Amino acid sequence: MTETDVVVVGAGLAGLTAAAELQARGRKQLVLEADDRIGGRTAGHRVAGQLLDLGGAYTGDLHTEVRALAARLDIPMQPTEAPGSALFDLRGRVTRADSGIAAYSALAVGNLLELLEELSADVDPEAPGAHPNAAELDRLTVADWAGQQLTHPDARLFADLLVGEMLATDATELSMLHLLFYLRSGGGAHFLTAFSGGAQQDRFVGGAHALCDRLAPSLAEPPRLRTLVTQIRTDLRGHLVVQGPGFAVECAHAVIAVPPGPAARIAIGPAGTGPGASRPSRSRSRGGAVKLHIVYDRPFWADAGLSGWVTADRGPVRYVTDDSAGRDGLGVLVAFLTGSCAAAYAAQPPARRRADVLGSLSRWFGAAAERTLAYVETDWRSQPFVEGCYAAVPQRGWWAEAGTTAFAGRPAGERIRWAGTEQSPAFYGHLEGAVRSGLDAARSLLDTDQGQG
Ligand SMILES: Cc1cc2nc3c(=O)[nH]c(=O)nc-3n(C[C@H](O)[C@H](O)[C@H](O)COP(=O)(O)OP(=O)(O)OC[C@H]3O[C@@H](n4cnc5c(N)ncnc54)[C@H](O)[C@@H]3O)c2cc1C
Repeated sequence: MTETDVVVVGAGLAGLTAAAELQARGRKQLVLEADDRIGGRTAGHRVAGQLLDLGGAYTGDLHTEVRALAARLDIPMQPTEAPGSALFDLRGRVTRADSGIAAYSALAVGNLLELLEELSADVDPEAPGAHPNAAELDRLTVADWAGQQLTHPDARLFADLLVGEMLATDATELSMLHLLFYLRSGGGAHFLTAFSGGAQQDRFVGGAHALCDRLAPSLAEPPRLRTLVTQIRTDLRGHLVVQGPGFAVECAHAVIAVPPGPAARIAIGPAGTGPGASRPSRSRSRGGAVKLHIVYDRPFWADAGLSGWVTADRGPVRYVTDDSAGRDGLGVLVAFLTGSCAAAYAAQPPARRRADVLGSLSRWFGAAAERTLAYVETDWRSQPFVEGCYAAVPQRGWWAEAGTTAFAGRPAGERIRWAGTEQSPAFYGHLEGAVRSGLDAARSLLDTDQGQG
């Protein structure tokens, strides 16, 4: 049996951050990864010499830890801002942001954002379930809440668009408490929805995956791929044994850095591993996204003064952004299909899927949208070791039931630590949350270790 100080389960950004931190503080670590690659919800794909982000990509100034990590790893930032007018395809009509015909009432949307900021300020990100109205807010869907509280149809429409764009699920599925928690955790509605000055301000040159690609080689022991962890138990000598089909590793501590769905399938026991081991897992996500990259020889939409950004109220594509900045003249549109739109799209045969998407792009940008260099489709809903895209969306009622114990995997004193973006009260669901959770897990484990030593 292999032996090490700490086993880290999962070679996503959280697991690799934890492993690097443990190693920097003198601990022997071993990362076990189920997939045949590292990176988890970050992944790179090269087209015409450019690395595209198939998964997580964008970052903003509030994301201090992931940006500090990028700086240490010598990964520069590329601003994403694309000049020009955005398009809105709402209620059957396409309008330009500068056309003088407002896509929706600025006042109604502004009031909605203010109301959401106000309501989310009352949610403690460390314990959303401790909110005085937790049970009620966690039972209501965002669509229910909007129907009851918002009188202006544009505010209701915007609430629906916001949920799809930010959480890749439908307003008819998402708990209102989760939305408020997510806004609070992520720096507020204004930051989360903005490009310049917001969470989508920059991307990492070479892709967010480069963070993982550069962390892994710095580890003394390279991550072991195709190594699915199915059980963590305590042996007769009191050591932890992390095991799966055909392997077992003995260790003093373990960090489980996998999303809640796969984490729930790791059997932990028998008793003796401590209460941290019985961390409640979140139910399977109902959301999920398909991310598309449609690549052209140049950003031809700029000729018409367009930024490449589109918001639409019906599928298949509901959100398009321009990812061409800093790509040597290549034109790259990124389209997000979320929630039920993603499910409906994925159910179609491939030729139909592509025709539908290019049909939408032609409607917005003209016939040149049909002349693609590449069409890259990434369906995160079908990834076996993720189950949560962009992040896990807890079932309604989960936060209220968890009460103050939602982030209970964090207290010191346990031999198993939980990491991963869904374990972070700050920037839950983001690359930043992944890095923070990895650092937290490693540091609290080291503190416990020192306390006991
Ligand atoms: C399409 C998409 C777009 C996104 N956009 C952004 C964005 O623009 N900005 C942003 O900040 N965030 C974004 N995100 C979210 C961001 O990518 C994630 O928050 C982050 O990558 C999660 O990292 P993690 O380490 O917590 O989890 P993961 O990356 O999921 O890593 C977990 C790892 O554990 C492995 N694993 C699972 N089960 C087991 C097991 N039993 N044994 C061993 N290994 C196991 C998995 O294979 C995986 O490698 C996006 C995500 C997606 C999918």
